[in-house]
Amino acid sequence: MITCEKCRNRTCCTMVVVEIETPENKDDYEDISWYLYHPGISVFIEQDEDNPEEDQWNVRFDSKCMHLNGNGKCNAYDEKPPICTEYSIENCDHEFNDMKVHFKSPEEYKEWLKTCEEYQELCKKEEETKANKEDN
Ligand code: SF4
Ligand code: SF4
Repeated sequence: MITCEKCRNRTCCTMVVVEIETPENKDDYEDISWYLYHPGISVFIEQDEDNPEEDQWNVRFDSKCMHLNGNGKCNAYDEKPPICTEYSIENCDHEFNDMKVHFKSPEEYKEWLKTCEEYQELCKKEEETKANKEDN
C-alpha cells in the first residue's frame, strides 16, 4: 500500500471533490455543463462504492490547500480539521481507479452526451411529446 509520503498527487490536499445527484432528466444532464464553464472545475463519473451497479457523479475543484507547504507536508498542525485527521489511507483512491470518465471541458462533455444512450432517449421522448402536442 502507498504511504502518504510517497503519494505523487497528494490528491487529498490539492482538490475538493463533492458528490452530486445523478442526472435523471434532460435538463439535469444539460445542467452539468454549467460546472464545466468554470475554469479549474471538472466533473467525473465513478463506480458507486456502495452499489457497484450504479454510477456516482462528482464535481472536482482543483485547488491546493493553503496549508500544504512546498515539501508536500501539512502546516496546519493543531488547526487540521477532523476531515483531514480522520481520513483513512486504506480507503484513499488517490489514483482515481474507480473513475469511468472525466470531463474537463464543456466540449468534451457535449461529445460524450452524443454517445449517452439515456440522454439520447430522453431527447427522443421530449421530441415525441412536442410533436404530439402540435398534432392536438
Ligand atoms: S491520504 Fe491519499 S491522497 Fe492524501 S497524501 Fe495520503 S495517499 Fe495521497
Ligand atoms: S489542512 Fe493539511 S492535511 Fe488538510 S488538506 Fe490542508 S494540507 Fe492537507
